[in-house]
Amino acid sequence: MKQDVIELDGAIGGGQVLRSALSLAMLSGKTLRLHNIRARRSRPGLLRQHLTAVQAATQVCGANTTGAELGSQVLSFEPGPIRGGDYRFAIGTAGSCTLVLQTLLPALLQAPEPSRVSISGGTHNPLAPPLDFLQQAWLPQLRRMGARVELQLLRHGFVPAGGGELEAFIQPSKLQPLHLLERGALLGRRAWALSAGLPEHVAERELRRVHNRLQLPREQLSPVQLDEQYGPGNVLLLEYAYEHLTELFSGFGQNSLRAEKVADGAIDQALDWLQSGTAVAEHLADQLLLPMALAGGGSLTTPRMTEHLASNIQVIEAFLPVRIQAHVLSEQQLRLECRALA
Ligand code: ATP
Repeated sequence: MKQDVIELDGAIGGGQVLRSALSLAMLSGKTLRLHNIRARRSRPGLLRQHLTAVQAATQVCGANTTGAELGSQVLSFEPGPIRGGDYRFAIGTAGSCTLVLQTLLPALLQAPEPSRVSISGGTHNPLAPPLDFLQQAWLPQLRRMGARVELQLLRHGFVPAGGGELEAFIQPSKLQPLHLLERGALLGRRAWALSAGLPEHVAERELRRVHNRLQLPREQLSPVQLDEQYGPGNVLLLEYAYEHLTELFSGFGQNSLRAEKVADGAIDQALDWLQSGTAVAEHLADQLLLPMALAGGGSLTTPRMTEHLASNIQVIEAFLPVRIQAHVLSEQQLRLECRALA
């Protein structure tokens, strides 16, 4: 039987266009033809993290794939049936393990059997969800939708050394629609600073900045010194737990970036979201769209339309019979609604 073919221009976004398209191709059984992959990025085409996502998706559904090479800007991916089981993937650099897991998870939830997936590489990367974000913010929402998933950190991996590892256990599950229009009551706030192979004052200064700018009580601030073999690495994590969701903001340590500035990165993101009064901050919003669309419905409020949201909407609507509409409620409030087409 000839499969439907979905042709997409990867230049509408970055790696997320590729990852969402792979997830949707696996789930819909449609063939994906993608060109201009990450064409507007400084190093275009497939990097190690993207290539690992393609190889992993290929293995999970026995796909016929061409163009799976480093630097490739074209990909053809003809999926077969999704198979659960034991999988082990190695990115081979500090590329993000969490992004590779997010590519596979929607498909493995619909596999006929349970899966165990281990992925090695980076677990705490700038410009990607840190593993703690998946554990505290993203997976709890998927579980509310019905997903049965456990995730463990086996080893931290920072940029540039990598060497981290995660392990996920996934049970076949059916997703239900999710509506996240309000945060509900505030249950708690805390911050912790992970650091490895760096002087102790780095984490202390980051946490002091959180205390000074957000008035978080000292007992809610924890420096976490990791074994120096994982370093150098540093990330400041700032969590807000509400009745209906938990949000997690992160600032990554970098050479020549002062510890106070690292903390400011996370604090400014948190304040932007808090002041908007919306339920979901920008990163969690773009990562919930695909599960909502697979569930056949959902809605959320978020501060604004981002490139990730806009490109993800295009990819999702290309594959699935759903319509995702954005209603501007005010300058800092957008409501996204996902509906199955009749
Ligand atoms: P590219 O280099 O092409 O941009 P990429 O593969 O690194 O590609 P993106 O397409 O930029 O990835 O997608 C990154 C994903 O990580 C998005 O879903 C984004 O919301 C998420 N993300 C980035 N930073 C954070 C963060 N600090 N916390 C949670 N999620 C994050």
